Amino acid sequence: MRALVLTDFHQLDLVEVERPDPGPGEVLLRISATGICGSDFHGFTGENGRRVPGQIMGHESSGTIAGLGEGVDPATLPLGAPATFNPVVVPDALVEEYRGREHHAPGKQVIGVAQHLQASFADYVVVPARNVLLLDPAMPLHLGALIEPLAVAVHAAGLAHPLPEERALVVGGGPIGQSLVLALQRLGLSEIALSEPDPQRRELVAALGVTVLDPSEGPLAEQVLEALGGPADLAIDAVGLSPTMADALAATRLGGRVVLVGMGSPRLELPAFAISTEERTVIGSFTYSAQDFADATAWIGGHVEQAATLVSRVVGPAGAQEAFTALATGRGPAGKILVSFDEEEVPA
Ligand SMILES: [Zn+2]
Repeated sequence: MRALVLTDFHQLDLVEVERPDPGPGEVLLRISATGICGSDFHGFTGENGRRVPGQIMGHESSGTIAGLGEGVDPATLPLGAPATFNPVVVPDALVEEYRGREHHAPGKQVIGVAQHLQASFADYVVVPARNVLLLDPAMPLHLGALIEPLAVAVHAAGLAHPLPEERALVVGGGPIGQSLVLALQRLGLSEIALSEPDPQRRELVAALGVTVLDPSEGPLAEQVLEALGGPADLAIDAVGLSPTMADALAATRLGGRVVLVGMGSPRLELPAFAISTEERTVIGSFTYSAQDFADATAWIGGHVEQAATLVSRVVGPAGAQEAFTALATGRGPAGKILVSFDEEEVPA
């Protein structure tokens, strides 16, 4: 089968490797499409230290069930059925104990991040059966690759416990910020503003029906006040830098909530009194629970049009090197790039 191997930093090669076989309790998936994540292209350059040469990356995928290992029930996971996989793998012994917060389980492995696991920038991948989720057969299969980033957003939005009538601000209009808009709309919110300096990203986000703001046009708090008719009840920072967190805090009402999901910097300087005397809560968010992933999967099947807005480009495996390089050098498109492993490749 074909696989994209990170042979060296800045170098992805399409090579022939042996197709894996599903062991007991495992499923073989034929990959249709895999999204390029920020963590992938920052790993591609070596800058985040989260990927190593020799690795086959990929954790945002859709495909079809192509083989079942021993003990996997074909009635639950039928051959040929469209599916996605949750890349967060919890050790067997901890599945019950960590139900509902699988991502906190010690020893968890993330397919696409764990260096020794062959992941899904390839024709096939093997994953545990309990990590496989069936997709709505009516939805375009490649859109299933958007479920993983949407699950990140479903989790982050859920941690703020927003009410439908509340005002929300999203800081950052990249793929996670875009997914956050969908995740907030899924919870019934309609008063949503998103701040993003890039005009192409603002255009994409505006198509989702929310107010877009340009942070370079003046203090974000004032822009939010005007756009939403009041300060935000909650803000979600999908960037994670000191200035974006300061903006998120300033644009939020006293007693409001700010969720930090962006990982732009390992250290932040925060306006302390915006948290202490003004009683805002800062909530950390990372990945998702199995339920968040299932919720994202269920939602996307019924909202194909909104989901499709988030895909800017589909390339074949031969186009991956160029796509990764473009993303790593800031020349990427406004939305997601998917790498398609379908036989008939969608032209770029
Ligand atoms: Zn990702």
